[in-house]
Order: sequence, then C-alpha cells, then structure tokens
Amino acid sequence: MDSEHQDCIPAKHGSEITVCGIPASPGIASGPAFVFGDILNEVETRTIGSAEVEGEIARFRDAVDLVKQELTRDAERISEQLGDEHADVFLVHSMILEDRGVLDAVEDRIRTDLVNGEAAVAQEMKRLVGVLASSDDAYLKDRSFDISDIGKRVIERMLGVWAHCPLVQPMIIVASELRASDAVTMDRGRILGFVTEHGGKESHAAILARSLGVPAIVGATGIVDLVNTGDVLAVDGEKGTAVLRPAPGTLERLDRQKQDEVRERESLGELLELPAVTVDGTQIGLLANVGSIEDAREAARLGAQGIGLVRTEAVFMASGSFLSEDEQYDAYRGIVEAMGGKPVTIRTLDIGGDKFVGPENPFRERNPNLGYRSIRVLLDRPELFVAQMRAILRAGAHGDVRLLWPMICTLEELRAAKEVLEEAKVSLRRDGVPFREDVPAGVMIEIPSAALLADRLAAESDFLSIGTNDLTQYVLAVDRGNSLVDRLYRPHDPAVLMLIARTVEGARSAGVPVAVCGEMAGDPEYVPLLIGLGIEELSVAAPRLLPAKREIRRTELMAARELAGRALTAGTAGEVEAILGWTSPER
Ligand code: PEP
Ligand code: MG
Repeated sequence: MDSEHQDCIPAKHGSEITVCGIPASPGIASGPAFVFGDILNEVETRTIGSAEVEGEIARFRDAVDLVKQELTRDAERISEQLGDEHADVFLVHSMILEDRGVLDAVEDRIRTDLVNGEAAVAQEMKRLVGVLASSDDAYLKDRSFDISDIGKRVIERMLGVWAHCPLVQPMIIVASELRASDAVTMDRGRILGFVTEHGGKESHAAILARSLGVPAIVGATGIVDLVNTGDVLAVDGEKGTAVLRPAPGTLERLDRQKQDEVRERESLGELLELPAVTVDGTQIGLLANVGSIEDAREAARLGAQGIGLVRTEAVFMASGSFLSEDEQYDAYRGIVEAMGGKPVTIRTLDIGGDKFVGPENPFRERNPNLGYRSIRVLLDRPELFVAQMRAILRAGAHGDVRLLWPMICTLEELRAAKEVLEEAKVSLRRDGVPFREDVPAGVMIEIPSAALLADRLAAESDFLSIGTNDLTQYVLAVDRGNSLVDRLYRPHDPAVLMLIARTVEGARSAGVPVAVCGEMAGDPEYVPLLIGLGIEELSVAAPRLLPAKREIRRTELMAARELAGRALTAGTAGEVEAILGWTSPER
C-alpha cells in the first residue's frame, strides 16, 4: 500500500538527484519535464532591436485587448450562472488592465530596456506583486494574486497558449500544486506523469493521473526549484520517487520495471471476457468512473459493465467554461452512446473545493471544502441546476441513464433536488423535447451526516453511491489535497468503515442498491474489505477495472465478511492494516 513518506532530503548520486514524495498513481515514466504554472518566472527574456519595439508593443496591446474581452465574457457568464457577486474577480482583473500606469510601465520597459513583450510584462508584474505582497494590508496582499494571475494570462495570450501548458511533446508535469482545472485542460495524450510539491493522494489531479494510467507523486518537496523545463526526469509512481537527470543505470533499472509492468498489464488482458464474480459465485458490479468521452471509450474497451460515475465538472473544466444545456446534452449523449446501452450514472456538477471552471476560482473562499461547493451551488442557482438536469434527462432518451446528486448533507437537500428534477421534467414536457421519464436518481454518500442518515436518504431515492474520497476527508477532518496531512488520510480508518457499514445497512433497509465510487473501490487491496462490508458494486478508474476484477475473482465471500467484521471492531487504522495483512499487529 502506501509507502511511508518521510521528509526526504533530495539525495544526489553522481549527477542524478532523487526526490521522494508520496506515491499517488503507480507506473514508471521518464522523459523531459515541463515545469508548470510559473510562467512569470520562466518566460524567456530576449533583447530586441529598436526596429522591433513598436511590433512588441502592438503584440502586448493585442493581448491585453483579447484578455479584456475574455474577462468581460467570463464576468457575464459567471454573473448569469452564479450571480453578480462571483464576477468580482473578473472585474478586478479588468481594472488592472485598464490601469494606464501599469500599461505604460510595461511599454516603457519594452522601449527602454529593449526586451520582448512577454518579458516586460513578467518583470513589471513581478515588481507589482513584490510591492503588494509586502504590504501589511490584507486587501492589498490579496491583490498581489490578482496581479500575478492577470500577468500570466496576458503572457499566455502573447505566447498563444492557454493554461500555460503548451506540451509540445510527451512530458512529465512538475508543479508546486496542480488544480483539477489545470490538469484537465492539458493535452492528455502528452502527459507522461505528474510530480507535485503539494496535494494529496486523493486530490483531483491525482485521480486524473490514475484515470490516465500515468504515474503521479505528490508531496515532492523542493522539486520545482531543482527542475527546469526540458530536464530529463524519471518517475516511479509505485515508490514515490522522482530522479532528476537519471544515470544510465537508473534508466535501465526503471526500464526493466516498466517491462514488468507491461507484462503484468498484458496478463490482465486474460480477464477481459471473464465475469466479475467472487470465488463462490457472487456477482459484483464493476463499473467505471469517467470525466470525458475518451475515458468512457477506454472503460468500454476494458469491459466496464457501465459507468458508475460521470464527473460532469470534468467535462466543464476541460472546455474552460460553463456549458449550455445543448452542449451538455451532446457531451452526455456521447458518453451514453460510447457505452452502447450499458448503464451510465451522471453526477450533477461538483464544483467548489479544488474544482472550478475556467482559469480562476470565482468563489475565493477561506475553506472551500466546507463552503460553497457542489449541490449547495446548484440549489442556489436553479437555472444552472435545471439546465443540467434537462441535459441529463435528454441524454436518457439514448440509453440507460441514471442521475446522481453529490455532497448531499441533509434530507432537505435531497427533497429540494428532487423538486428541481420535477421542474426540469415539467419544462421538457412543455417544450415537447424527448427525454427519459423514469431516470433513477441516487445520492452520493460522502459526508458523515449523509452516512448517518443513509436509511432515510435511501428511502427517498433510487440508489446510493459512497464517495469514500470525501467521506474520508470529512470524517477524519483531513484535507484530501494536502500532502502535510496525507499520512492521516486513511480510508480504512475504522470510523470510515463504520460509516460504510451503516450506509450499506441503510440502503438494505430501504431495499435500494449501494455502490462505492470513491478511489477506495479501485484499490485492489480494499476490494475484499468492501465486498465483506456488503458492497455489491464498485466503480473505478478505467485502468483499474482489470486489477479490481482480478481481486474480486480471488475473493471468498465468507472470508471477506469475516475480515470486514474484524476490521469493524478495530480501534485504529493501524489495527486494520494488520488485519488486512499489510503490517504486523504491533505497528
Ligand atoms: C468521492 O468523494 O469519493 C467521489 C467519488 O467524488 P470526487 O472524488 O469527485 O469528489
Ligand atoms: Mg466527492
């Protein structure tokens, strides 16, 4: 399982430097690094001739105009969809770009210092950030982030890239921290792996790495300062190490490991046509979690029985904007059709926390995981909610669609969501638009209150799906995206297991099915435990379908129940680890 992450001082052997972090997605990769997100510090400074000055200034002005137009569009869209108060950030950014003092300072640098436009923007923005960041005034300090964000955006436009991640070839992304919205906008075909200084194993960027089947390491302290874009990096996602400028011997060793991995993957292919049943013949539903049509195609190829979770926010994030009802309908329909009649569970938007749409977080909260997130946003913005449910209901006309509501915390929220669902149906009937009337609607159990109320939520819904990623975060008060507390993030803590067991009981009492769609379901080491707790359906990232199936096929129901029974009586996560056979009981 998770190797112990010590505070590892980067170790130097010859010219290679090894940095340790927390393993977040298995696999081996090597290739050039791309240091992400620091465009202000990385932009190339070029001396220009005086004949080029006016051209550079024109490029700068064009980029400013473009960003201003984008900001106006973003502000309008966010005001319309989330309310005027959330558009403030875009207005602040526009104001910076209206400030003649700032614009003149950049143009003066181009003229006087004879540097290219991007470098002039970077230098001026860094100067302003320095001034504001050293202020004692909290308001001014906060503005330094705005200056930095807007500077990056102008430079991106001058360079003709978005999200400052122009992957020109397959590369390993190195970053201080990677937000879900950053990760999802990258060219997925060119991502070899991720190494970040911050972020937890269940941060959404780590989840994306697992769904792409590429290695990821989080908590790799110091990596950003050590690595430059283009440096060769080798990543071992199983061990959690990143080796900068690997020696030939290191590369050979990793290459051998990679070949073992490939052989292992090939051997899993034998399972493709076999059913997901335990040794004693109990059928276990094995579905996939997806965030795009590409994921769905991969899931179908790997024999998923359906989709247990469509993270619709990933679809929004990938496009960088809120999608209209028709755009959503097209996207969901694509996923439904890719699954060729198999069930597809579409979850309504789970924005907030570390997930937001577009390059900036409009909410700017102190504690986003406990704030304006997910169903709370949707219930507050019925027009957004109705549009999404109409799109899902319409996609239901093309297959076996189910609807899933995330972050439900109270029965009132469930009832309110059901009312909006009815409203969406009424409006579709009125408009004469084809849709599926009897789309089953389920509840994510990912907040402790929901697990405690599982019987009542189950009695008023069609199914439950346990989100162990957030459930663990909220039960144990451990930020899932914070590497500093990552060692406290243990989904097998008895407190989490007790809530899973209670959810199973609640679902059974109401006679509705219950699945697990959190990352725990895709970790083969948890599979017998979850089956023993009474879970009959697992939904996992596509690359984990076959490893999970292999584990299901090795599981004996009675032994799994006995194992789960013992884990439920444990006092600590360490005791559960011993019961699962990972450690000795003394640990
Ligand atoms: C979860 O919380 O377990 C879950 C599946 O949802 P997400 O990871 O998207 O928050
Ligand atoms: Mg969740």
